[in-house]
Amino acid sequence: MCCFWRQRRNLRRPGRLLRRAWLPAMVAAALWAGCWLPGPRVLGAPGAAPLSQVIIVSPEDITTPAPTPSPVGATPAPTSPPVGKGQAGIYVVRPGDTLWSVALEIGVDLAEVPCAVGPHFDPAQPLVIGDVLHVPPPGFTCHTVEAGETLATVAARYAVDPAQIYAVAWNGLQAQPLDAVTLVPGQHLRIPPPRTAAEAAGFLPWILQQPINTSPFGAIALRPPTNRRVEGPAAPIPADWPYGSGYFIWPVYGWLSQGYRYDHRAVDIAAPAGTFVMAADRGVVVRAGWNDQGYGRFVVIDHNIDYVTLYAHLTEIFVQEGEIVAQGQVIGSVGSTGNSTGPHLHFEIRDFGRRINPLELLVR
Ligand SMILES: [Zn+2]
Repeated sequence: MCCFWRQRRNLRRPGRLLRRAWLPAMVAAALWAGCWLPGPRVLGAPGAAPLSQVIIVSPEDITTPAPTPSPVGATPAPTSPPVGKGQAGIYVVRPGDTLWSVALEIGVDLAEVPCAVGPHFDPAQPLVIGDVLHVPPPGFTCHTVEAGETLATVAARYAVDPAQIYAVAWNGLQAQPLDAVTLVPGQHLRIPPPRTAAEAAGFLPWILQQPINTSPFGAIALRPPTNRRVEGPAAPIPADWPYGSGYFIWPVYGWLSQGYRYDHRAVDIAAPAGTFVMAADRGVVVRAGWNDQGYGRFVVIDHNIDYVTLYAHLTEIFVQEGEIVAQGQVIGSVGSTGNSTGPHLHFEIRDFGRRINPLELLVR
């Protein structure tokens, strides 16, 4: 049944085919990048080199390395930021990174990674080891300009004022007067969150005022039962089967302390420190370790059916990268590491790189 399920998903999701073609391309690009260790560049920051001067890694670099190459993993020069280390809000590209892995590491959707690199970043261009990325603030959306769009049409699309987009220094629009801004197709813009009455008043009062059949939680409770559940496998799953079932179990016994919203695209499940955290579905551990961007000690599992789950603020990790884990297998324990004010599990489900509401997929 697993294969049937995956075929159905493939039919429904042409994105998976794209990912198949696109991801190896990015991996190859990252491998090229691994042969090249230039000095760090601050992209998108004031005074950054224009795009025409940005070094683009080319295949020739593989056969003709720089005269004095720095081996990957060597202690960087004192002037270089430490590769793979960073601080909240700053991410330094490290060997093996792809846009996909960077999105996981900095806690944004795949489509939002360009807004950590630069307004004129071309996703076809490989990331370069040592590049310094500036993580967009929470709640910001990344928009890629399409032909014919103006600041006014983009602003209207996100229900913000054009002046709000203009005021974001990162967008680099302030060289032109507000009423004469011209946008270039392919340009990336950081869109600030809309200033609606609901959000100005805070999320909790807003959600309490929503009619029960339109609030996110009510909608879930009222959703009719589906017939999509598949029967269990006819035979035991081989230990090396790296695919998930598409059904997610609650990763920890606890209580929901924060729901999913525009600036928190995850759920927080509070539980006593040390409570075991389980894999929500079968998959491969692609990340297990420390994260500087606020996740603290975290685990990322790729279920290889478009879905990826992320478990943050752990106190202990019991799995290693590359390990295949079963659904329900203990992978760590609840803690409060990283940007956390008390013991809880921050749990994300990403569907083709986009953080979706886990409550829509968790088995009730
Ligand atoms: Zn959280």
